[in-house]
Amino acid sequence: MSVRPILAIGHPVLREVAVDVVVDEIQGEDVRSLINDLIDTMRDASGAGLAANQIGVAQRIIVMEVGENPRYPYKPRLPLTVAINPVITALDDEMVEINEGCLSVPLRGNVQRNVNIRVDYFDRDGVAHGETKRGLTAGTWQHEVDHLDGVLITDRAAPGSLATWAEYETHHRDAFVERITAFVERVGS
Ligand code: ZN
Repeated sequence: MSVRPILAIGHPVLREVAVDVVVDEIQGEDVRSLINDLIDTMRDASGAGLAANQIGVAQRIIVMEVGENPRYPYKPRLPLTVAINPVITALDDEMVEINEGCLSVPLRGNVQRNVNIRVDYFDRDGVAHGETKRGLTAGTWQHEVDHLDGVLITDRAAPGSLATWAEYETHHRDAFVERITAFVERVGS
């Protein structure tokens, strides 16, 4: 287990469409080791999620976890989740604008996300899951699965909304946190 370097925007592997993991290999040593590195690296960087592309491996594996997070203090808690070969299906047309950051991009920006989604995936034991996700948790899933398709927040953000973290904190944070806190209270996640 180890903390790996996180690749930044401009690295070609962030633009690769990651390939499915062979289900019979989920419990093999290579996949187990990769998952442990993803978790260690995400926690070391205080990320809410990390996709395998971001540490240079174009395989369809994401990890997510939100506890007390200094980068995203308004995010509801999300227990450690490992998702292999995740597939997202929008359940309706309800959208929310979320100001997102990314460990591979030194900017934040406003991105439109579906509020209600279904996720189908395998966990690290190779067990298949089909679940519904809602609100900011659904947004986190969509952000991470975008990475597996080679998509970054700079592709989806309203161009005029892009800001460095310092400028976000000075000019945009208070209004965003007020709006998104009311949203989280309304949808419950
Ligand atoms: Zn990201």
